[in-house]
Amino acid sequence: MRHTDLLVVGGGPAGLATALHAARAGLDTVVAEPRPAPVDKACGEGLMPGAVRALTALGLHAPGHPLTGIRYVQGPCRVEAPFRRGEGLGVRRTALHTVLHRAVLDAGVPVLPLRVDAVRQDADGVTVPGAELRARWLVAADGLHSPVRRSLGLDRPTRTAPRYGLRRHYAVPPWTSHVEVHWGPDAEAYVTPLGPRLVGVALLTSRREPYDTQLAGFPELAARLPPHTAV
Ligand SMILES: Cc1cc2nc3c(=O)[nH]c(=O)nc-3n(C[C@H](O)[C@H](O)[C@H](O)COP(=O)(O)OP(=O)(O)OC[C@H]3O[C@@H](n4cnc5c(N)ncnc54)[C@H](O)[C@@H]3O)c2cc1C
Repeated sequence: MRHTDLLVVGGGPAGLATALHAARAGLDTVVAEPRPAPVDKACGEGLMPGAVRALTALGLHAPGHPLTGIRYVQGPCRVEAPFRRGEGLGVRRTALHTVLHRAVLDAGVPVLPLRVDAVRQDADGVTVPGAELRARWLVAADGLHSPVRRSLGLDRPTRTAPRYGLRRHYAVPPWTSHVEVHWGPDAEAYVTPLGPRLVGVALLTSRREPYDTQLAGFPELAARLPPHTAV
């Protein structure tokens, strides 16, 4: 049986940042993440200024495109505001994951290729059945649908309809340093500059339809993103 101070279930941004802080605070820490690095995910890929400060506080820097503010667009209407304090950063999930994952390994934290669907809890800690792993503390950083949260009976019923995330990148120069959020009847499109010739578009939608069908609901945006530039 392996004994550790802290088990972090989930090696996404939250889990890796938690593991790094814990290791630097002197806790013997283990991360369980079944997916190989770098882990990708449908995401708008915009770090707000607070997240950039949090990354800097960890001594880390991820490559990306500076973000100066946020703009909301609905048909002919738009409203925008600059960030009040500091810049944000448009950064590929894979680039962010690589930086955090490297730092965690450098801090001596093992990232085990392990899926944890349930834990047994007692007065002194938690045990992962079948994994010969025991920890004094557990952080469930296993994402929105957290199996660990469910297994511990901490799930709460959701009252809203499910939404789906879709994402595509385009090799076009960004037309703005703002994150743009385009509002449609059933979906939002998050547009983020990621590099000198790279723009990411993430759709958050309540309709289960292909990406191209959903993008057609945002004609102004679709006109800026010729299909042949999709990467
Ligand atoms: C369309 C869309 C756009 C978004 N845009 C933005 C944005 O622009 N900026 C922003 O900051 N946020 C954005 N978000 C939200 C952002 O993606 C999440 O807040 C962020 O990924 C949460 O990080 P996390 O580490 O908590 O979880 P995740 O990134 O979901 O990571 C969870 C990890 O846990 C692992 N895992 C799952 N189950 C288990 C298990 N049983 N055992 C072990 N490991 C497990 C998974 O493999 C995964 O690596 C967006 C989300 C969507 C859907």
